[in-house]
Amino acid sequence: MSAFNYNPDEPRTHCIRCGTCCMKGGPTLHWEDAVLFKKGILKTSHVYTLRKGEMVYHNIRDTFFILQEEIIKIKGKDNKWTCMFYNHDQRACTIYQHRPIECRLLKCWDTQELEGIFLKKLLQRKHLINPDDPIMEILTAHEQRCSYALLEKSVKALGGRDSENAVKKILDLLQYDYYFRPFVTEKLKIAQGDIDFLFGRPFVTTISMFGLRVEQRGDIFWLVPDKPKKAKNEN
Ligand code: SF4
Repeated sequence: MSAFNYNPDEPRTHCIRCGTCCMKGGPTLHWEDAVLFKKGILKTSHVYTLRKGEMVYHNIRDTFFILQEEIIKIKGKDNKWTCMFYNHDQRACTIYQHRPIECRLLKCWDTQELEGIFLKKLLQRKHLINPDDPIMEILTAHEQRCSYALLEKSVKALGGRDSENAVKKILDLLQYDYYFRPFVTEKLKIAQGDIDFLFGRPFVTTISMFGLRVEQRGDIFWLVPDKPKKAKNEN
């Protein structure tokens, strides 16, 4: 049977190259994948960081959970979740011989092996940045000033007596994170493609995990209710 004349009524036992797994989002990276950076197959501009405290969607377990530690994933392409290394026309991975460990273990008809490494031996920013690099201090400072713990605390306070102050604190965090990025990019001559690896995705995007959205009018930020966005941080 060729890869493309699969009978959907038969139980699947092999990959039919439907591309579904690659279109659901790039893999989370593990220690084993560090060698791909050493070989130049992967670059930091190919990946982004999901920080501690961020809510992610696990598409195998079909559940949301909060990250207890950061993870690094391969970016999507064309503003979609499809892994940037997936070639639609050829229904193929463009780095197949060097694909990350999650891609090598994933069998959509039997996810046991993939589940076995779930959130274990995670590749993190500290593994890819020289400890003497001055950027490490800036990452630590950004984490302290703009942590998800701080954001969540203020979001929880929205329902309390001092909701006005909670809104102010949330907007302060959002704006700090928003303006910090171009500032350090310029000052330290950081490549634009490395920003989401270094500092994670911006709060103005991930605030949606709390059912909130930011509207920007000129320099002014407004916080407005939003429908929680499902499956936007797939793992
Ligand atoms: S690295 Fe290759 S196999 Fe893995 S999700 Fe991306 S395109 Fe698919």
